[in-house]
Amino acid sequence: MKSVKEIEKQLPGFNCGACGFRECHGFASALAKNEVSIDNCTVLKQERLKENRTALQKFVHNNKNTEKIEIKGLIDGVGADFALHPLDKEPSCRETLICFSSVPVEKDMIIRYRPLGCPIIHFARVIEINHNLLDVWVIGPGKLLSRKEDATEVGICMVLSFQGTIEGETPKVGQTVKFLPAHCMMGKVHSGIIVQLEDNKTRIDCIDLKVWQHTV
Ligand code: SF4
Repeated sequence: MKSVKEIEKQLPGFNCGACGFRECHGFASALAKNEVSIDNCTVLKQERLKENRTALQKFVHNNKNTEKIEIKGLIDGVGADFALHPLDKEPSCRETLICFSSVPVEKDMIIRYRPLGCPIIHFARVIEINHNLLDVWVIGPGKLLSRKEDATEVGICMVLSFQGTIEGETPKVGQTVKFLPAHCMMGKVHSGIIVQLEDNKTRIDCIDLKVWQHTV
């Protein structure tokens, strides 16, 4: 963000009070925090100050774009580092599950399960099975299922990993993060460790629903 001093340099310096501030300095401070509009300084509308106005407009535009979006969980109000959205053209973030059931599970099957630590029953489509671990797309609670699809009950599953696209500040590999999966029906912030990162695509392991405020 530009310093108040730099913004003030572009203002007319009349200290006329027409903007509601006694001096240009007060207006510059408010502009730096996106609290006022450039239009409030009527003096800036003069033709001879056109360049100053353009410079300030550019600043306001950039300032709005770099504003940090606050992402918070609904259930406990915990702040997240970022939101996790599905990978390109996928219906939801990928989850990797350990399934403890002895019921045979195959690719493309719809399973009904409760993730360990979560009170909500999930329905998901199995998209890959690798060393007995299931990669799934969560497709929602029962009411979203089409009536033609039968779900196989597999009981409790442990969620090991998430894969998806980051919206927010990009973390580092190895960092412990708090994130909000876009498909989470409880709006619950999860924690985990970044193990893969390519642009804004990531894999997060060691998923936990226990999130402490001090987790960074
Ligand atoms: S209206 Fe413009 S010139 Fe007058 S005090 Fe406010 S910022 Fe300064």
